[in-house]
Formats: sequence, structure tokens, C-alpha cells
Amino acid sequence: MPLSRFSFPTTIHFGPGARALVAGDLAAAGVRRPLVVTDKGVSPLPFFGELVADLGRDGLDVGTFDGVWGNPVKSQVDAGVEAFRAHGADAIVGVGGGAALDVAKAVGLMATHPGDLFDYEDEMPGARPIEATVPYFVALPTTAGTGSEVGRSAVIADDDTHVKKIIFSPHLLAKAVFADPELTVGLPGPITAATGLDAITHNIEAYLAKHYHPICDGIALEGLRLGAQHLATAVAAPTDLDARGGMLMSSMMGAIAFQKGLGLVHSTAHALGTIADMHHGLANGVMIDIALEHNVEAVPERFTTMAVAVGLADATPGGFLRWLADLKAEVGIPATLAGTDVDPAKAGALAEFALGDACHLNNPRDCTLADFQLIFDKAFA
Ligand SMILES: [Zn+2]
Repeated sequence: MPLSRFSFPTTIHFGPGARALVAGDLAAAGVRRPLVVTDKGVSPLPFFGELVADLGRDGLDVGTFDGVWGNPVKSQVDAGVEAFRAHGADAIVGVGGGAALDVAKAVGLMATHPGDLFDYEDEMPGARPIEATVPYFVALPTTAGTGSEVGRSAVIADDDTHVKKIIFSPHLLAKAVFADPELTVGLPGPITAATGLDAITHNIEAYLAKHYHPICDGIALEGLRLGAQHLATAVAAPTDLDARGGMLMSSMMGAIAFQKGLGLVHSTAHALGTIADMHHGLANGVMIDIALEHNVEAVPERFTTMAVAVGLADATPGGFLRWLADLKAEVGIPATLAGTDVDPAKAGALAEFALGDACHLNNPRDCTLADFQLIFDKAFA
């Protein structure tokens, strides 16, 4: 057995009202001038104004930057760094979904590192090193899907080419996460469904990824069980804090688990995101059962274990795939790409993009171009 290294360092304050603990945490860390980084959709919400006011009441001199929207691009990071310098900030509070939290991490990096953001691209030959000098950073998620608040990477696209680059370092991890289900209550049903399917896909693909990581496997199975228990309720009853909390935890567990790796579903979702501009969670949601069928013959016992974890009477691989299809229908995710506006003429390009995506390298069964072509043919049928 090869030597392994496991690391789970993030402090997580979890539960309704957790956001009230941010000021005390910042003060204890010696922070005086935090910059709150968020996106345009979050900054007008009542809770955001209250959060900033609360931080100010505790004697902190708070600046805000809300120049994040859509899929984050480098110019947003550059603008955030300018805001950080203009405020004379000494810490970053990230508030929002994956986009805002990723930009927050990248702003912290570029506030203390020389050169250009993409000089730090993960695994690029000659990439500059990321040091521990990044400012103090805490994260408050407002969606339950990407789990970026517990992740150690930022995905930022080039403004012109739209090519996404991954910046990765343990130094980018939040020092503390304030996971407050009340912040996700305002999410519309379709976004709750799509982001929730992303979380469920992270748990499933992490569990199926081929590396040795029993700790992540355990987290992934419980994260999957929580997602199975709570997603439909979170969509149908948006103010149900128990369901919102369950999805927020499932999302964080998925992101913690996928340090083990992801798989072919994410390769198809990345293709749909880049070529068809499809929402990442929606893309995973549509593709999940169609693509996962490819893996059954390689690891049938793992599908059976997942079927048991979500409480199915039919604890078989086929039963698990049918459960996913039923869940999609229940929360309003289209069964196939035929139920979306993606052009079927793009099937070939989607298959080629998916083959070039790195996620499927951790898949339990190899994927060839012909495999991806078959998967997209099925998805458009
Ligand atoms: Zn994902």
C-alpha cells in the first residue's frame, strides 16, 4: 500500500445564526479592516447590509467589493485587488456562491503576491509558488452546491478566451467558514435544485474516484445520504431550515470529499459549461444518471453501497440509477439534453471537450472519445 496524506483543516461554524460569529472571529484574529467580497446578486439582499452593519458595530472598518457576477473572470479579481488596496484592507470576508468565494480567494492571493494571477495556474510549468502570506480569509456560503468555502482552489476564466484556469494551494483555504442555512433560504427553486445536484454529484463522483481515500469515501457516503434526504424538501419548501442545513452540509461534505477526485460526469458538465454556456449544477444534474451508467460494470459493489446509503429497497446499481432519474424529475431537472436548449449538432464537440477534461482521469473506468460520444448521443436522444 502506498503512503497517503490526509488533511481536513477548516474550522466550520455551522447552523442558523452562524453569521453572527464573524465579527468576534475577525477581532480574535487581530483584523481591523476587512474587505467583504461578494457578487452583484448578493449585495442588495437585506442580510448582506445587516452583516456589514454588524461588523461595523463591532469596531471593524469594513470595505465592500461587489464586482463579481456570472462565471468569474480575471478582470474581476484585478478590480477586487484594487478595492483591497484602496481600503487598506487586512483581511477578506467572502460572501456568496462559488463565484464570489473563488474571486475572494484569488483577491487574497494577488493582494500579497507579485505578477499576474495566471502566473499561479496549478501545475503549469514554471508556475510561481503560492506562499502563506495571503491575508486572513473567512467564507460565508449563500448557495449549497460548489462547497467552495471548504475548497483550496479558485477557478477563474480568462476574460477574452473564457478558458478556465485553476489556482490551487492549501494557503487559499478559508481560516474559518460560517455556514448559516438562513443565508440560503432566498435561493429560487431551480437554483436550489441545480446546485443541490452539483453537491450530490460531488459526493457520488468522489466516492467512485479511483484513489485510495477511505476518509473521503466515508464523508462522501454521508454527504450523499444527506443530499438524498433533503434536496426535494429544500426545493419544495424553501424556508425549511432543516432541509437547507442538510443541503449546506451535503455541499461542504462533497467538496471536502472531492479532494480525492471527481469523474466523468464532471467532464461532461465542464464541456456543457464551456461549449453550451450551461449552468454547472444543471449540467451535472442532466448528465448524472446518463453518464454514471458507464461506471457500473467497473465498480458495481460501490453502486450497491450508494443505493443502501440513500435507503433504497432496490439496492442494486440499476435501482440507484433509477433513483437518480426519479430525483431529477421530482426537483425539475430535465431528464436529458433534449429537454434543454443545447444544440444536438454540438454532440461531437462536447465529446471532444469532455475527453480533454482532467476530471475523468480519476474515473473508476477509462473513458475514450467513443465512450463520450455514446454518452452524449444518449443524452440527446
Ligand atoms: Zn461540480
